[in-house]
Amino acid sequence: MMGQFDYQLIKRELVMKEHQKKQEIADLALFGGEKACREPLYVGRPNIGDKEIFLKRMEDILDRKWLTNDGIYIAEFERQLATKLGVKHCVAMSNGTVALEIASRALGMTGEVIVPSFTFIATPHCLFWQGINPVFCDICPETYTADPASIEKLITPRTTGIIGVHLWGQICNIQQLENIARRHNLRLLFDAAHAFGCSYNGQMIGSFGDAEVFSFHATKFLNSFEGGAIATNNDLLAEKVRLMKNFGFVGVDDVGYAGTNGKMSEPSAAMGITSLESMDEFVETNRKNYLQYNKLLSGVPGIKLLIYNQQETSNYQYIIIEIDSDKTNIDRDDIARVLQAENIFVRRYFYPGCHNQEPYSSYFPYAKHLLPITEEVSKKVLCLPTGTSIGEADITKVCELIAFTVANGKEIGSKISPELPILSHVV
Ligand SMILES: *Cc1c(COP(=O)(O)O)cnc(C)c1O
Repeated sequence: MMGQFDYQLIKRELVMKEHQKKQEIADLALFGGEKACREPLYVGRPNIGDKEIFLKRMEDILDRKWLTNDGIYIAEFERQLATKLGVKHCVAMSNGTVALEIASRALGMTGEVIVPSFTFIATPHCLFWQGINPVFCDICPETYTADPASIEKLITPRTTGIIGVHLWGQICNIQQLENIARRHNLRLLFDAAHAFGCSYNGQMIGSFGDAEVFSFHATKFLNSFEGGAIATNNDLLAEKVRLMKNFGFVGVDDVGYAGTNGKMSEPSAAMGITSLESMDEFVETNRKNYLQYNKLLSGVPGIKLLIYNQQETSNYQYIIIEIDSDKTNIDRDDIARVLQAENIFVRRYFYPGCHNQEPYSSYFPYAKHLLPITEEVSKKVLCLPTGTSIGEADITKVCELIAFTVANGKEIGSKISPELPILSHVV
Protein backbone atom coordinates (compact mmCIF):
# COMPACT_ATOMS: atom_id res chain seq x y z
CA MET A 1 0.00 0.00 0.00
CA MET A 2 1.15 3.52 -0.73
CA GLY A 3 -0.52 5.19 2.22
CA GLN A 4 -3.41 7.52 1.74
CA PHE A 5 -3.23 7.81 -2.05
CA ASP A 6 -2.93 5.15 -4.68
CA TYR A 7 -0.80 7.16 -7.09
CA GLN A 8 -0.98 4.53 -9.76
CA LEU A 9 -4.76 4.68 -9.69
CA ILE A 10 -4.81 8.48 -9.82
CA LYS A 11 -2.36 8.45 -12.70
CA ARG A 12 -4.44 5.87 -14.52
CA GLU A 13 -7.53 7.97 -14.03
CA LEU A 14 -5.77 11.03 -15.39
CA VAL A 15 -4.68 9.09 -18.45
CA MET A 16 -8.25 7.86 -18.87
CA LYS A 17 -9.52 11.41 -18.70
CA GLU A 18 -7.20 12.39 -21.47
CA HIS A 19 -8.06 9.37 -23.51
CA GLN A 20 -11.70 8.58 -23.21
CA LYS A 21 -13.00 5.69 -25.21
CA LYS A 22 -16.25 6.29 -27.02
CA GLN A 23 -19.01 4.46 -25.22
CA GLU A 24 -21.89 5.33 -27.45
CA ILE A 25 -22.49 6.84 -30.85
CA ALA A 26 -23.35 10.23 -29.37
CA ASP A 27 -19.77 10.36 -27.99
CA LEU A 28 -18.40 10.70 -31.51
CA ALA A 29 -17.22 14.23 -32.27
CA LEU A 30 -19.22 14.09 -35.48
CA PHE A 31 -22.38 14.00 -33.33
CA GLY A 32 -21.30 16.55 -30.74
CA GLY A 33 -18.93 14.54 -28.52
CA GLU A 34 -15.45 15.64 -27.54
CA LYS A 35 -12.73 15.28 -30.16
CA ALA A 36 -10.54 12.23 -29.56
CA CYS A 37 -7.40 14.21 -30.44
CA ARG A 38 -6.69 17.67 -29.16
CA GLU A 39 -3.96 18.16 -31.74
CA PRO A 40 -4.82 17.16 -35.30
CA LEU A 41 -3.15 14.06 -36.75
CA TYR A 42 -2.14 14.26 -40.39
CA VAL A 43 -0.99 11.89 -43.07
CA GLY A 44 2.42 12.89 -44.36
CA ARG A 45 3.93 15.05 -41.63
CA PRO A 46 7.60 15.28 -42.51
CA ASN A 47 10.25 13.04 -40.97
CA ILE A 48 12.91 15.45 -39.76
CA GLY A 49 16.44 14.43 -38.88
CA ASP A 50 18.92 16.18 -36.59
CA LYS A 51 17.94 19.86 -36.53
CA GLU A 52 21.26 21.08 -35.09
CA ILE A 53 23.31 19.35 -37.74
CA PHE A 54 21.03 20.66 -40.48
CA LEU A 55 21.32 24.23 -39.18
CA LYS A 56 25.12 23.93 -39.07
CA ARG A 57 25.06 22.86 -42.69
CA MET A 58 22.79 25.81 -43.56
CA GLU A 59 25.22 28.16 -41.88
CA ASP A 60 28.05 26.68 -43.87
CA ILE A 61 26.11 27.09 -47.13
CA LEU A 62 25.39 30.75 -46.37
CA ASP A 63 28.99 31.42 -45.30
CA ARG A 64 30.40 29.89 -48.45
CA LYS A 65 27.81 31.77 -50.55
CA TRP A 66 27.32 28.82 -52.87
CA LEU A 67 23.61 28.11 -53.01
CA THR A 68 22.98 25.85 -55.96
CA ASN A 69 24.72 24.86 -59.27
CA ASP A 70 27.30 22.10 -58.75
CA GLY A 71 27.43 22.69 -55.01
CA ILE A 72 29.33 20.36 -52.70
CA TYR A 73 26.21 19.31 -50.78
CA ILE A 74 24.47 18.29 -53.99
CA ALA A 75 27.49 16.23 -55.05
CA GLU A 76 27.67 14.63 -51.60
CA PHE A 77 23.94 13.87 -51.52
CA GLU A 78 24.15 12.25 -54.96
CA ARG A 79 27.18 10.18 -53.91
CA GLN A 80 25.46 8.96 -50.75
CA LEU A 81 22.25 8.15 -52.61
CA ALA A 82 24.08 6.11 -55.25
CA THR A 83 26.00 4.21 -52.55
CA LYS A 84 22.87 3.51 -50.53
CA LEU A 85 20.95 2.28 -53.57
CA GLY A 86 23.82 0.37 -55.16
CA VAL A 87 23.32 2.18 -58.44
CA LYS A 88 25.94 3.81 -60.67
CA HIS A 89 24.31 7.21 -61.06
CA CYS A 90 21.93 9.26 -59.02
CA VAL A 91 21.18 12.73 -60.36
CA ALA A 92 19.47 15.04 -57.88
CA MET A 93 16.64 17.25 -59.15
CA SER A 94 14.35 20.02 -57.95
CA ASN A 95 11.44 17.62 -57.44
CA GLY A 96 10.12 14.23 -58.47
CA THR A 97 7.78 15.57 -61.15
CA VAL A 98 10.52 17.39 -63.06
CA ALA A 99 12.70 14.29 -62.63
CA LEU A 100 9.94 12.19 -64.25
CA GLU A 101 9.60 14.69 -67.10
CA ILE A 102 13.33 14.74 -67.71
CA ALA A 103 13.73 10.96 -67.45
CA SER A 104 10.88 10.20 -69.86
CA ARG A 105 12.13 12.84 -72.29
CA ALA A 106 15.73 11.68 -72.13
CA LEU A 107 14.54 8.12 -72.80
CA GLY A 108 12.88 9.34 -75.99
CA MET A 109 9.34 8.54 -74.92
CA THR A 110 6.81 9.97 -77.41
CA GLY A 111 3.35 9.04 -78.72
CA GLU A 112 1.80 6.79 -76.09
CA VAL A 113 3.18 5.63 -72.78
CA ILE A 114 1.39 3.10 -70.59
CA VAL A 115 1.00 4.07 -66.97
CA PRO A 116 -1.31 2.97 -64.14
CA SER A 117 -4.20 5.29 -63.37
CA PHE A 118 -3.95 4.38 -59.70
CA THR A 119 -1.11 6.73 -58.80
CA PHE A 120 -0.45 10.33 -57.87
CA ILE A 121 -1.43 12.69 -60.67
CA ALA A 122 2.21 13.67 -61.34
CA THR A 123 2.86 10.31 -63.05
CA PRO A 124 0.55 10.93 -66.06
CA HIS A 125 1.09 14.71 -65.90
CA CYS A 126 4.82 14.31 -66.60
CA LEU A 127 3.87 12.75 -69.93
CA PHE A 128 0.90 14.90 -70.92
CA TRP A 129 2.92 18.03 -70.14
CA GLN A 130 5.27 17.01 -72.96
CA GLY A 131 2.57 16.11 -75.46
CA ILE A 132 2.83 12.38 -74.75
CA ASN A 133 -0.45 10.50 -74.25
CA PRO A 134 -0.63 8.57 -70.99
CA VAL A 135 -2.55 5.36 -71.66
CA PHE A 136 -3.98 4.06 -68.41
CA CYS A 137 -3.58 0.44 -67.43
CA ASP A 138 -5.28 -1.33 -64.54
CA ILE A 139 -3.65 -2.66 -61.39
CA CYS A 140 -3.35 -5.98 -59.59
CA PRO A 141 -5.72 -5.96 -56.61
CA GLU A 142 -3.14 -7.53 -54.26
CA THR A 143 -0.25 -5.13 -54.83
CA TYR A 144 -1.97 -2.02 -56.27
CA THR A 145 0.73 -1.95 -58.97
CA ALA A 146 0.46 -2.14 -62.77
CA ASP A 147 -1.11 -5.36 -64.06
CA PRO A 148 1.19 -6.83 -66.75
CA ALA A 149 -1.79 -8.39 -68.59
CA SER A 150 -3.53 -5.02 -68.74
CA ILE A 151 -0.35 -3.38 -70.08
CA GLU A 152 0.02 -5.93 -72.89
CA LYS A 153 -3.52 -5.27 -74.12
CA LEU A 154 -2.82 -1.55 -74.47
CA ILE A 155 0.31 -1.72 -76.60
CA THR A 156 -0.12 -0.13 -80.04
CA PRO A 157 2.35 0.86 -82.78
CA ARG A 158 2.48 4.30 -81.11
CA THR A 159 3.55 2.95 -77.71
CA THR A 160 7.11 3.91 -76.77
CA GLY A 161 7.30 3.12 -73.10
CA ILE A 162 5.91 2.00 -69.77
CA ILE A 163 6.04 3.78 -66.44
CA GLY A 164 5.54 1.40 -63.52
CA VAL A 165 4.78 2.87 -60.10
CA HIS A 166 6.01 1.27 -56.87
CA LEU A 167 2.93 2.50 -55.07
CA TRP A 168 3.21 2.77 -51.27
CA GLY A 169 6.49 0.93 -51.49
CA GLN A 170 4.77 -2.08 -53.07
CA ILE A 171 7.13 -3.08 -55.83
CA CYS A 172 5.86 -3.60 -59.38
CA ASN A 173 6.17 -6.97 -61.00
CA ILE A 174 9.52 -5.83 -62.37
CA GLN A 175 10.37 -9.15 -63.97
CA GLN A 176 7.23 -9.23 -66.10
CA LEU A 177 7.40 -5.54 -66.97
CA GLU A 178 10.98 -6.00 -68.13
CA ASN A 179 9.92 -8.95 -70.27
CA ILE A 180 7.12 -6.95 -71.89
CA ALA A 181 9.40 -3.98 -72.50
CA ARG A 182 12.07 -6.18 -74.09
CA ARG A 183 9.60 -8.05 -76.33
CA HIS A 184 8.01 -4.85 -77.63
CA ASN A 185 11.16 -2.71 -77.61
CA LEU A 186 9.73 -0.23 -75.11
CA ARG A 187 11.52 2.03 -72.65
CA LEU A 188 10.84 1.13 -69.02
CA LEU A 189 10.79 3.79 -66.32
CA PHE A 190 9.79 3.37 -62.69
CA ASP A 191 8.14 6.02 -60.58
CA ALA A 192 9.76 5.11 -57.28
CA ALA A 193 8.50 8.18 -55.41
CA HIS A 194 7.23 5.92 -52.60
CA ALA A 195 9.96 3.32 -52.67
CA PHE A 196 13.14 4.91 -51.41
CA GLY A 197 14.78 2.35 -49.14
CA CYS A 198 12.71 -0.58 -50.44
CA SER A 199 14.09 -3.71 -52.07
CA TYR A 200 13.04 -6.18 -54.78
CA ASN A 201 14.47 -9.71 -54.44
CA GLY A 202 16.91 -8.23 -51.97
CA GLN A 203 18.21 -5.55 -54.34
CA MET A 204 17.50 -1.91 -53.56
CA ILE A 205 15.03 -0.09 -55.78
CA GLY A 206 16.97 2.37 -57.97
CA SER A 207 18.67 0.20 -60.56
CA PHE A 208 15.72 -1.42 -62.32
CA GLY A 209 14.37 -0.65 -65.79
CA ASP A 210 16.06 2.08 -67.82
CA ALA A 211 15.83 4.42 -64.84
CA GLU A 212 13.96 4.94 -61.58
CA VAL A 213 12.72 8.26 -60.24
CA PHE A 214 12.51 9.24 -56.58
CA SER A 215 10.73 12.10 -54.87
CA PHE A 216 12.08 13.75 -51.75
CA HIS A 217 9.03 15.90 -51.19
CA ALA A 218 8.27 16.82 -47.57
CA THR A 219 5.61 14.10 -47.31
CA LYS A 220 7.82 11.31 -48.59
CA PHE A 221 9.88 8.89 -46.52
CA LEU A 222 13.10 10.82 -47.14
CA ASN A 223 12.71 14.54 -47.58
CA SER A 224 14.81 17.40 -48.90
CA PHE A 225 11.93 19.93 -48.55
CA GLU A 226 11.29 19.59 -52.29
CA GLY A 227 13.48 17.31 -54.32
CA GLY A 228 13.86 14.25 -56.47
CA ALA A 229 16.41 12.13 -58.27
CA ILE A 230 16.91 9.97 -61.32
CA ALA A 231 18.77 6.73 -60.62
CA THR A 232 20.23 4.67 -63.44
CA ASN A 233 23.10 2.36 -64.36
CA ASN A 234 23.13 3.78 -67.90
CA ASP A 235 26.13 6.15 -68.31
CA LEU A 236 24.77 7.89 -71.40
CA LEU A 237 21.35 8.44 -69.88
CA ALA A 238 22.88 9.83 -66.69
CA GLU A 239 24.98 12.26 -68.72
CA LYS A 240 21.94 13.33 -70.73
CA VAL A 241 19.65 13.97 -67.76
CA ARG A 242 22.45 15.86 -66.02
CA LEU A 243 22.63 18.27 -68.96
CA MET A 244 18.86 18.43 -69.38
CA LYS A 245 18.29 19.53 -65.79
CA ASN A 246 20.66 22.46 -66.41
CA PHE A 247 19.11 23.98 -69.57
CA GLY A 248 21.17 21.69 -71.81
CA PHE A 249 24.44 23.48 -71.06
CA VAL A 250 27.33 21.37 -72.30
CA GLY A 251 29.92 24.08 -71.67
CA VAL A 252 30.08 27.55 -70.13
CA ASP A 253 28.49 29.32 -73.12
CA ASP A 254 27.51 26.25 -75.03
CA VAL A 255 24.01 24.76 -75.09
CA GLY A 256 23.76 21.30 -76.66
CA TYR A 257 20.02 20.78 -76.75
CA ALA A 258 16.70 21.68 -75.17
CA GLY A 259 16.79 21.51 -71.41
CA THR A 260 14.94 22.84 -68.44
CA ASN A 261 15.76 23.93 -64.92
CA GLY A 262 15.51 20.87 -62.73
CA LYS A 263 18.40 21.62 -60.39
CA MET A 264 18.32 20.78 -56.71
CA SER A 265 19.55 23.57 -54.42
CA GLU A 266 22.21 23.29 -51.70
CA PRO A 267 19.78 23.73 -48.77
CA SER A 268 17.66 20.90 -50.18
CA ALA A 269 20.73 18.69 -50.57
CA ALA A 270 21.77 19.50 -46.99
CA MET A 271 18.32 18.49 -45.79
CA GLY A 272 18.53 15.32 -47.89
CA ILE A 273 21.90 14.37 -46.36
CA THR A 274 20.57 15.09 -42.87
CA SER A 275 17.49 12.95 -43.57
CA LEU A 276 19.66 10.10 -44.86
CA GLU A 277 21.58 10.09 -41.58
CA SER A 278 18.33 9.43 -39.70
CA MET A 279 16.92 6.99 -42.20
CA ASP A 280 17.27 3.94 -39.96
CA GLU A 281 15.35 5.68 -37.17
CA PHE A 282 12.59 6.70 -39.59
CA VAL A 283 12.24 3.08 -40.71
CA GLU A 284 12.24 1.87 -37.11
CA THR A 285 9.47 4.30 -36.11
CA ASN A 286 7.40 3.52 -39.19
CA ARG A 287 7.81 -0.20 -38.62
CA LYS A 288 6.84 0.07 -34.98
CA ASN A 289 3.75 2.06 -35.98
CA TYR A 290 2.90 -0.49 -38.64
CA LEU A 291 3.18 -3.39 -36.19
CA GLN A 292 0.93 -1.58 -33.73
CA TYR A 293 -1.67 -0.85 -36.40
CA ASN A 294 -1.46 -4.45 -37.54
CA LYS A 295 -2.06 -5.74 -34.02
CA LEU A 296 -4.91 -3.37 -33.17
CA LEU A 297 -6.76 -3.66 -36.49
CA SER A 298 -6.33 -7.38 -37.03
CA GLY A 299 -9.60 -8.33 -35.36
CA VAL A 300 -11.73 -5.61 -36.94
CA PRO A 301 -14.08 -7.17 -39.50
CA GLY A 302 -13.86 -5.77 -43.03
CA ILE A 303 -10.62 -3.86 -42.41
CA LYS A 304 -7.59 -5.19 -44.24
CA LEU A 305 -4.20 -3.62 -43.61
CA LEU A 306 -1.68 -3.46 -46.43
CA ILE A 307 0.96 -6.01 -45.41
CA TYR A 308 4.64 -5.35 -45.94
CA ASN A 309 6.66 -8.28 -47.19
CA GLN A 310 9.02 -9.20 -44.35
CA GLN A 311 11.44 -10.83 -46.81
CA GLU A 312 12.21 -7.45 -48.35
CA THR A 313 13.53 -4.16 -47.01
CA SER A 314 10.76 -1.56 -46.73
CA ASN A 315 10.35 2.00 -45.53
CA TYR A 316 6.91 1.28 -44.00
CA GLN A 317 5.96 4.84 -44.91
CA TYR A 318 2.29 4.20 -45.66
CA ILE A 319 -0.42 2.68 -43.50
CA ILE A 320 -3.13 1.66 -45.93
CA ILE A 321 -6.38 -0.01 -45.06
CA GLU A 322 -8.85 -1.51 -47.48
CA ILE A 323 -12.45 -1.33 -46.33
CA ASP A 324 -14.89 -4.03 -47.30
CA SER A 325 -18.15 -2.18 -46.65
CA ASP A 326 -20.17 -5.42 -46.93
CA LYS A 327 -18.53 -6.37 -43.65
CA THR A 328 -18.12 -2.95 -42.02
CA ASN A 329 -21.64 -1.82 -42.94
CA ILE A 330 -20.20 1.65 -43.38
CA ASP A 331 -18.28 2.89 -46.39
CA ARG A 332 -14.80 4.33 -46.66
CA ASP A 333 -15.96 7.92 -47.02
CA ASP A 334 -18.10 7.83 -43.89
CA ILE A 335 -15.24 6.31 -41.89
CA ALA A 336 -13.11 9.23 -43.11
CA ARG A 337 -15.85 11.67 -42.01
CA VAL A 338 -16.01 10.13 -38.53
CA LEU A 339 -12.23 10.31 -38.14
CA GLN A 340 -11.80 13.85 -39.40
CA ALA A 341 -14.36 15.10 -36.88
CA GLU A 342 -12.08 13.58 -34.21
CA ASN A 343 -9.15 15.59 -35.63
CA ILE A 344 -7.72 12.62 -37.51
CA PHE A 345 -7.15 13.66 -41.10
CA VAL A 346 -6.88 10.47 -43.09
CA ARG A 347 -6.43 10.58 -46.89
CA ARG A 348 -8.24 8.80 -49.70
CA TYR A 349 -5.09 8.14 -51.78
CA PHE A 350 -5.49 7.93 -54.81
CA TYR A 351 -9.13 8.66 -55.24
CA PRO A 352 -10.73 8.89 -57.76
CA GLY A 353 -7.94 7.59 -60.03
CA CYS A 354 -6.12 9.78 -62.55
CA HIS A 355 -8.45 8.76 -65.39
CA ASN A 356 -11.29 10.49 -63.53
CA GLN A 357 -9.37 13.77 -63.27
CA GLU A 358 -8.92 16.46 -65.88
CA PRO A 359 -7.65 16.60 -68.51
CA TYR A 360 -7.78 12.81 -68.70
CA SER A 361 -11.47 12.35 -67.95
CA SER A 362 -12.32 14.52 -70.98
CA TYR A 363 -9.73 12.92 -73.24
CA PHE A 364 -10.51 9.37 -72.22
CA PRO A 365 -14.17 9.33 -71.12
CA TYR A 366 -14.37 5.54 -71.53
CA ALA A 367 -11.19 4.72 -69.62
CA LYS A 368 -13.17 3.75 -66.51
CA HIS A 369 -14.66 0.79 -68.36
CA LEU A 370 -11.19 -0.61 -68.90
CA LEU A 371 -10.09 -0.09 -65.32
CA PRO A 372 -12.41 -2.11 -63.07
CA ILE A 373 -9.84 -2.78 -60.33
CA THR A 374 -8.74 0.85 -60.18
CA GLU A 375 -12.36 1.96 -59.97
CA GLU A 376 -13.06 -0.46 -57.15
CA VAL A 377 -9.89 -0.04 -55.12
CA SER A 378 -9.93 3.76 -55.27
CA LYS A 379 -13.28 3.71 -53.49
CA LYS A 380 -12.20 1.53 -50.60
CA VAL A 381 -8.68 2.41 -49.50
CA LEU A 382 -7.73 4.85 -46.80
CA CYS A 383 -4.32 6.12 -45.78
CA LEU A 384 -3.82 6.51 -42.01
CA PRO A 385 -1.42 8.78 -40.12
CA THR A 386 2.05 7.44 -39.35
CA GLY A 387 5.65 8.66 -39.27
CA THR A 388 7.82 10.20 -36.60
CA SER A 389 5.18 12.70 -35.45
CA ILE A 390 2.63 10.00 -34.57
CA GLY A 391 2.88 8.31 -31.18
CA GLU A 392 1.69 5.03 -29.75
CA ALA A 393 -1.29 6.68 -28.00
CA ASP A 394 -2.36 8.31 -31.28
CA ILE A 395 -2.41 4.98 -33.08
CA THR A 396 -4.40 3.42 -30.26
CA LYS A 397 -6.99 6.18 -30.62
CA VAL A 398 -7.20 5.83 -34.40
CA CYS A 399 -7.63 2.06 -34.17
CA GLU A 400 -10.17 2.21 -31.35
CA LEU A 401 -12.20 4.73 -33.32
CA ILE A 402 -12.10 2.58 -36.43
CA ALA A 403 -13.13 -0.49 -34.41
CA PHE A 404 -15.94 1.45 -32.71
CA THR A 405 -17.15 2.88 -36.02
CA VAL A 406 -17.19 -0.54 -37.65
CA ALA A 407 -18.93 -2.12 -34.65
CA ASN A 408 -21.70 0.44 -35.08
CA GLY A 409 -21.29 0.81 -38.82
CA LYS A 410 -24.88 0.68 -39.92
CA GLU A 411 -26.21 3.15 -37.40
CA ILE A 412 -23.34 5.64 -37.77
CA GLY A 413 -23.48 5.50 -41.54
CA SER A 414 -27.20 6.18 -41.56
CA LYS A 415 -26.67 9.38 -39.57
CA ILE A 416 -24.04 10.90 -41.89
CA SER A 417 -24.92 13.14 -44.79
CA PRO A 418 -23.13 12.18 -48.01
CA GLU A 419 -22.81 15.93 -48.62
CA LEU A 420 -20.42 16.36 -45.70
CA PRO A 421 -17.11 17.29 -47.33
CA ILE A 422 -13.98 15.26 -46.70
CA LEU A 423 -11.24 17.70 -45.87
CA SER A 424 -7.63 17.58 -46.81
CA HIS A 425 -4.79 19.39 -45.18
CA VAL A 426 -1.63 20.23 -46.99
CA VAL A 427 1.25 19.89 -44.57
C1 LIG B 1 5.00 12.60 -54.82
C2 LIG B 1 4.86 11.81 -56.03
C3 LIG B 1 5.36 12.26 -57.27
C4 LIG B 1 5.87 13.65 -57.48
O1 LIG B 1 6.96 14.01 -56.71
P1 LIG B 1 7.17 15.56 -56.33
O2 LIG B 1 8.54 15.54 -55.72
O3 LIG B 1 6.10 15.94 -55.36
O4 LIG B 1 7.11 16.36 -57.58
C5 LIG B 1 5.29 11.42 -58.35
N1 LIG B 1 4.73 10.20 -58.26
C6 LIG B 1 4.22 9.73 -57.10
C7 LIG B 1 3.63 8.37 -57.07
C8 LIG B 1 4.24 10.55 -55.96
O5 LIG B 1 3.68 10.11 -54.84
